Amino acid sequence: MTKRILCWFRRDLRLDDNTALLAAYAAAEEVVPVFIFDDAILSRPDTGAVRVAFLLESLRNLDENLRARGSRLLLRRGRPEHVLAQLVTETAASAVYFNRDVEPFALARDARVRAHLEGRCAVEGFDDGGLTAPEAVRTKAGTPYTVFTPYRQAVLAQPIPRPRLAPAMLRTPADVPSDPWPSLKDLGFATSVSPPPGGETSAQARLQGFIQNGLARYATERDVLSADGTSRLSPYLRFGCLSPRRAYWAAREAVPEGSPGMESWIAELIWRDFYRQILFHFPYVETGAFRRAYDDLAWENNASWFDLWCQGKTGFPIVDAAMRQLLTTGWMHNRARMIVASFLTKDLLIDWRWGERHFMKHLVDGDLAANNGGWQWAASTGTDAQPYFRIFNPTAQGKKFDPTGAYVRQYVPELRAVPDRWIHEPSRMPPDVQRAFRCVIGVDYPAPLVDHGRQRAKALTMFGRFASPE
Ligand code: FAD
Repeated sequence: MTKRILCWFRRDLRLDDNTALLAAYAAAEEVVPVFIFDDAILSRPDTGAVRVAFLLESLRNLDENLRARGSRLLLRRGRPEHVLAQLVTETAASAVYFNRDVEPFALARDARVRAHLEGRCAVEGFDDGGLTAPEAVRTKAGTPYTVFTPYRQAVLAQPIPRPRLAPAMLRTPADVPSDPWPSLKDLGFATSVSPPPGGETSAQARLQGFIQNGLARYATERDVLSADGTSRLSPYLRFGCLSPRRAYWAAREAVPEGSPGMESWIAELIWRDFYRQILFHFPYVETGAFRRAYDDLAWENNASWFDLWCQGKTGFPIVDAAMRQLLTTGWMHNRARMIVASFLTKDLLIDWRWGERHFMKHLVDGDLAANNGGWQWAASTGTDAQPYFRIFNPTAQGKKFDPTGAYVRQYVPELRAVPDRWIHEPSRMPPDVQRAFRCVIGVDYPAPLVDHGRQRAKALTMFGRFASPE
């Protein structure tokens, strides 16, 4: 009988350097690639339309690339354990292969799948989603790293696996039916935001473009809010349209050892692994503070302030520009993410989990590990070695990282005519200047929602009650 293996794609939507796919290809005569629309994910309140739109396009591209190799992608909808059991029966497959996912939800789902398929076929999970496996990098004491810099050094001391090419051809049985391709609407979503083009083909093109044109400038431009100074590969890494090892080696081999752009970009890829292993080893961070004592922080949680923050109407131009960039494009610059997260938690004194959920709903790259890590970093409840009294001044951040105001003007049209001198503090414009530039504060653009100095002092008191919790 023909040996068949089901290859269950989840967040590894590519053929290049796909560990589970290559293992299935090596072990079986026929491979059955399948993607399952899981209602438990589709119905979650933080599953955003823009991410589902990106997913759909990535699946289309995966199917095209499989077809070019003689195969195709089967689509099914339902509970994965039931769908897979049914497919095992239909295809007489001897095994289900997939790439592991470190999220608590995924680990529980995969445990259910294993239990359900026991006795029917083999089930194998492979490590694929990072530069290294989450268990692979340990301190001398054998514990997981909880501080980034030594973690980075330990990763760089390890051999990072070279990416492997996709199988040239794949045999897939012709008689296994697929569900029809759903539209975004069929899946229960709608959005006016256009995500970047999904899929592996676009990911490879973007990686090449960034390596050729962006990497050398990365160290100097990555923090300039109005520059296209970062790779914008995050949605592709999020959905596995790009192998992190492919990205790593492309950067390593493009420029001489020690080039600042390359070193700092690789450090960002390692941040991604760092937060994956934090989530894996400390899954309680999904719902609570990494430093547990901070679960008892007395957040003020003013709901109308939260709404204004979500809409980009706080009266702090850099915050408003960033929040509107998120709503209108589904993406936000990393520096801006840090600014708005600090502002929400330390100026508005709102629980970081509120912001985390809003980001998750709207980000095309929304990823539990990175988002949670970023939020807890900004809220000082996480792994960051810096103490809680690092509080960003949003006006100073705006002046430093958007010195010409180009970023603010791009996303906050009310401020377009405001002269450079006042672009980051328009409420300081004298009334006649406000009128002259058609930006009357309180009418055309909001007055600052809070006084930064006062809120900063309150935040310090709030955190100070829990000095140095471990
Ligand atoms: P580049 O600067 O080109 O970096 C290359 C890749 O490294 C990124 O694509 C990403 O995969 C990874 N990376 C970069 N910075 C980080 C970081 N700090 N943590 C983890 N991985 C990183 N990133 C997400 O992918 N999904 C999220 O949901 C997410 N939420 C965030 C929330 C907050 C509050 C903060 C402060 C950061 C968050 N980040 C998140 C990290 C970072 O902002 C984005 O990865 C980055 O802006 C993506 O743009 P890029 O691809 O151009 O990045």
